[in-house]
Amino acid sequence: MDGFYHVDQAMDTSPKDPYVISLIYSVVALFLLIPPQEVRSAGLTLERIFQNQLGSESLDFVGYHMRRTTLTRLVALLVPFGYFAILSLYRPDLLKVTFVYTGLLVSLAVAVLAIAFSLYYWRTKWASHPLARTLAKHGDNWRFVAGNINTEFRRIDKFTTGPTSGRVIVTESWLIKVGIFTVHVSKLSETVLALQNSALISNAQADVLQSVQRLSIKVTSANTAVGDFMIHVPGLEYRDFRSRLPFVHVVNVRGVTVQQTVGEQFVAAFIEQADRNNIYRLDPNTELDSCLGCMVARPDAKLVKLCAADEDGDCRNCRCRPQWCLSCMARWFASRQDQHRPETWLSSSAPCPNCRSRFCMLDVCRVVEDTAR
Ligand SMILES: [Zn+2]
Ligand SMILES: [Zn+2]
Ligand SMILES: [Zn+2]
Repeated sequence: MDGFYHVDQAMDTSPKDPYVISLIYSVVALFLLIPPQEVRSAGLTLERIFQNQLGSESLDFVGYHMRRTTLTRLVALLVPFGYFAILSLYRPDLLKVTFVYTGLLVSLAVAVLAIAFSLYYWRTKWASHPLARTLAKHGDNWRFVAGNINTEFRRIDKFTTGPTSGRVIVTESWLIKVGIFTVHVSKLSETVLALQNSALISNAQADVLQSVQRLSIKVTSANTAVGDFMIHVPGLEYRDFRSRLPFVHVVNVRGVTVQQTVGEQFVAAFIEQADRNNIYRLDPNTELDSCLGCMVARPDAKLVKLCAADEDGDCRNCRCRPQWCLSCMARWFASRQDQHRPETWLSSSAPCPNCRSRFCMLDVCRVVEDTAR
């Protein structure tokens, strides 16, 4: 393929450099289609710019998203043409390059088709829009289904979660996923959910507690005309999400564990830290009662001052024998912290439940029976 510099041999760093134009253009196009939070807050989204044309989501949910997805698809399909048009406007000499010339023609054809389709949707009063065809799978008349969804969406008790690029909405009888270019709909009475996997998404602070669990859930409908789709729900909101679907069956063949509360996330982080600390070898003949917290588990947490030398710092050496299991010790530790600032828990300390010596997370060891002894 001919390169940009086929025509101009010398490196050109002026604003007319095709690589500079390409870079600026792709950044602007990407920000317009998938705006990051900063751009969103500044109101530079397609939804904001065209709010008068799109109408109100709360009054006419289905109509709004038909207009919105038509707009986002149209813009996405106009992007290549815009690129080649600007490139040949600034650098007419590049039209001699086959790549630019062919690109301009092909992208022009795509743009014309995209506009024609958008007009066709509008002229047929949206009956030919993909969302109308999606809704038609749920009833004889898609407008009736749309009216039902609109009514339920207006109620304040609906559940909404997820990022703006993949919003999940649960109304009384519908599960809806609103994407940038598409909208998926499944009737709750026909829906089966399958937990696929969980991922920890880190926030700006690289802290275990600051990472948020994100669950990927596959939505399948008993109505075979409706295709499967994936939704993403934050682990912390899963319990709430699940409570909105009392009659929906959730399959978890992969054994995905849901960390539902900040407390449970902390317990996981606490045990993870304990496993990174030294292990505490215990004579297998030592008699241990069950954990004083849950009265069930075998005590497997031992406090040993490891964070600093014996006389340094606030932590003290605890001489108590193991009486608590790690999960209960974690819950005890969490209960002694500022409940409104979970981000401080990991670096904080707590008193031993028995002797009150202070300990931090570096001082918690897992108890292992020393069979070699
Ligand atoms: Zn316990
Ligand atoms: Zn103690
Ligand atoms: Zn310590």
